[in-house]
Amino acid sequence: QEAVRGAERSRTRDDDRYVFHSWSAQGAIDPLPVAGGEGAWFWDEDGNRYLDFASQLVNLNLGHQHPRLVAALQAQAGRLATVGPTFANDVRGELARLITERAPGARTGGTPAGGAGDDRRWRVFFTNGGADAVENAVRLARLHTGRAKVLAAYRSYHGNTTTAMSLTGDPRRWPNEVSPDPHVRHFLGPYAYRSAFGARDDAEEGERALAHLREVVQLEGPGTIAAILLETIVGTNGVLIPPDGYLAGVRALCDEHGILLVTDEVMVGFGRVGEWFAVDRWGVVPDLVTFAKGVNSGYVPLGGVIIGEHVARTFDDRVFPGGLTYSGHPLACAVGVETVRTFEDERILERVRTLGADVIGPRLREIAARHPSVGEVRGLGFFWAVELVRDRETREPLVPFNASGPAAAPMGAVVAAIKERGVWPFVHFNRLHVAPPLVTSADDLEHGIAAIDAALDVADEQAEA
Ligand code: PLP
Repeated sequence: QEAVRGAERSRTRDDDRYVFHSWSAQGAIDPLPVAGGEGAWFWDEDGNRYLDFASQLVNLNLGHQHPRLVAALQAQAGRLATVGPTFANDVRGELARLITERAPGARTGGTPAGGAGDDRRWRVFFTNGGADAVENAVRLARLHTGRAKVLAAYRSYHGNTTTAMSLTGDPRRWPNEVSPDPHVRHFLGPYAYRSAFGARDDAEEGERALAHLREVVQLEGPGTIAAILLETIVGTNGVLIPPDGYLAGVRALCDEHGILLVTDEVMVGFGRVGEWFAVDRWGVVPDLVTFAKGVNSGYVPLGGVIIGEHVARTFDDRVFPGGLTYSGHPLACAVGVETVRTFEDERILERVRTLGADVIGPRLREIAARHPSVGEVRGLGFFWAVELVRDRETREPLVPFNASGPAAAPMGAVVAAIKERGVWPFVHFNRLHVAPPLVTSADDLEHGIAAIDAALDVADEQAEA
């Protein structure tokens, strides 16, 4: 046992010395060495256990080491561990079929816009993850429409490749603007708690945000715009749920001008809010849908674009100028197939809806009422944000927008208080996000929320300081 621990520690030193980490000043980080995980829990090399309230990067939807996913991966490795994308492959085809059968509108007879009758079909282009899914969705939209411009929300994250990063609205874009995609424009999406439009409630916010988008389209020139891209529910930038009617309004605006609607479901697809795709909640059918993360809980990297048949047909006789060596990798797809089956056998969508509505939401609201530092609690299913403020009246955030260093210290104190209680949180700016694996037990949810409750005492103190 000691020898194993020793070997693990030396590997950690290798990480420190040789691994170049994401989004970090390399000298300023001290990553936790993770030794193992099971379900909603993982543990470090010293045996400290954490309940994962972040699902790693909001991708571990079925939890660590799910026996069915591990078995599917092992079985596929024994059959055919890899095959090129130019060949047909059974698990890749099966996963594409399973996804299209669950694509937005597929079950209700909804049709991708521009399609009719036999066009109630979709195809899937597989990628390695979310950023290249977005990259290829935009490429499809541009080639299909012959237009260059793409509109995306300021409050958004779409990935770390050139076009996806240019589309990203949040500050991670700023240092990357040394080489941007020149054809991206940003707009403000609905955010009722901090309305840019002076709205008093959700409905008004939805209407005004739509009017704003309509004006942006007008001023940019409707005939120059290939696509409007949006996260169905804005994820990292706030768990912002669109008011009823907003997405339908964007759909109508797109239809008016021959603009394609692309919904980015990388974070919220595959059950995060109790639907296969979040857009299903509003009955809106996009032209293109991006997915990744939850499609196979990240056991092997996988993402993709679900393509409305009317867009796919553009490439019946014309070459689609894109591809990836690992497009539809059989190991990734085998886990994806087993993910879909497991969702259905374990009734995951139902459990997410029920536990979200009966446990997570009510309990977070209950503890929020006791803590003056909580400005708003919002969310759906297993996807919630607790927005922390200095003052409930003025809604001044607990830390300033994009704060780092000492300015971010109050959030650092809250995070430390949660981790001390063995819960691993997801934090962005002045918000705690609650995004546990979809298999987390009711008792574990309660345990995690109790840790947040205790940490909010620290937030209250910080708000008063
Ligand atoms: N789109 C959204 C909404 C995301 O949340 C993310 C990642 O967090 C991405 C795209 C990029 O995905 P990936 O990191 O797999 O490239």
